Amino acid sequence: MNKHIQIAIDGPVAAGKGDIALRLAKELGLVYIYTGAMYRALGLACMSQSVPMDDQKKVLEVLQSIKIGLQYSPLHEKPYQVFLDGEDVTDRIIKQDAAMAASRVAAHADVRHEMVEQQKQIAQGKSVVMEGRDIALRILPEADLKIYLTASIEERAKRRLEQFQKNGIEKTLSDVLSDTKKRDEQDMGRAADPLKKLPDSWELDTTNLNQEQVVDAIKSELSKRGLL
Ligand code: C5P
Repeated sequence: MNKHIQIAIDGPVAAGKGDIALRLAKELGLVYIYTGAMYRALGLACMSQSVPMDDQKKVLEVLQSIKIGLQYSPLHEKPYQVFLDGEDVTDRIIKQDAAMAASRVAAHADVRHEMVEQQKQIAQGKSVVMEGRDIALRILPEADLKIYLTASIEERAKRRLEQFQKNGIEKTLSDVLSDTKKRDEQDMGRAADPLKKLPDSWELDTTNLNQEQVVDAIKSELSKRGLL
């Protein structure tokens, strides 16, 4: 494998980006960076400070006043941890209110600009697998492999429901389906860097694939490109 490799994974809600990126990170010895966690932590900070999430200026002030930390420890039982001003919020940010808040604060161009700067710094000089919505476009435009990971909306809602159940959060499939649709609309319909597949991204539809098959498909694409 190359000394230095950067993999970008973008895609809609619950396409499997997190699980796949974590597996790739472990297998290939890369640092896993979950950018959505930073938007979620910002959403959480806005909620706890009762800052209106449609007020770009106020949301940006919150971002500039907090410290968001990401920690990747492959051997730890929690392989990644997210900190907001030193407090571990990893379990808190998986909740649906934090996801919705993330999607709202992520719609602001100035907020994105600041996040992009922070995220570029985190990735700089490292071998990484980084996942989010604008990784190929903004954070790692020179990535060795740009992946657009997707799946049907029904399959994604089903996976999301399973994640909630695993974490003891009660939801119905129809609730999750409508939340997923809403977040897709927000992420794909916003004016500032909406989620879309780039012309030089490699699309992988995971609707009928299990995680192992997805990882194998990515590894074979990396080999084909002489990256493994
Ligand atoms: O990836 P995750 O679903 O945790 O992201 C939460 C929200 O953060 C997304 O719905 C999206 O609005 C936003 N996001 C983004 N750009 C990223 C990562 C996440 O806009 N790079």
